[in-house]
Amino acid sequence: MPLSSADLRRLAEAARGRRCEACAVLVCPGWESLPAGFDGRQLRVLGTLRPGEDEPTWQEHHPQGTRTDSPAAPIAPAFHPYNRSDAVACVHCGRAFLRYTEAGGYFSDVRLRELDPALVVD
Ligand SMILES: [Zn+2]
Repeated sequence: MPLSSADLRRLAEAARGRRCEACAVLVCPGWESLPAGFDGRQLRVLGTLRPGEDEPTWQEHHPQGTRTDSPAAPIAPAFHPYNRSDAVACVHCGRAFLRYTEAGGYFSDVRLRELDPALVVD
């Protein structure tokens, strides 16, 4: 079962204010690439937003005219890129993020966005 907006808000509230030495390097209010040298094993998966078998939509949700990587863009689980994301947390302190892997023909780029409960929409 994919995480709902309510699940995401709950995770985000529980993780609010957490931060440690290991994850301090992750500054990602909008979507940012995982910094080179950061060991991805320091993030554990809490759950997924991927809906399952069906190909999720590529449509994005920006009612206020934000862009994909805007820090103010809503976190809309039914829309791209959230519908291809996992919720992850720092294994040390529990700080929560969304993680999305952007895949191109010859590359893949892991992007993170900090999970802010105030930005989660239904
Ligand atoms: Zn941490």
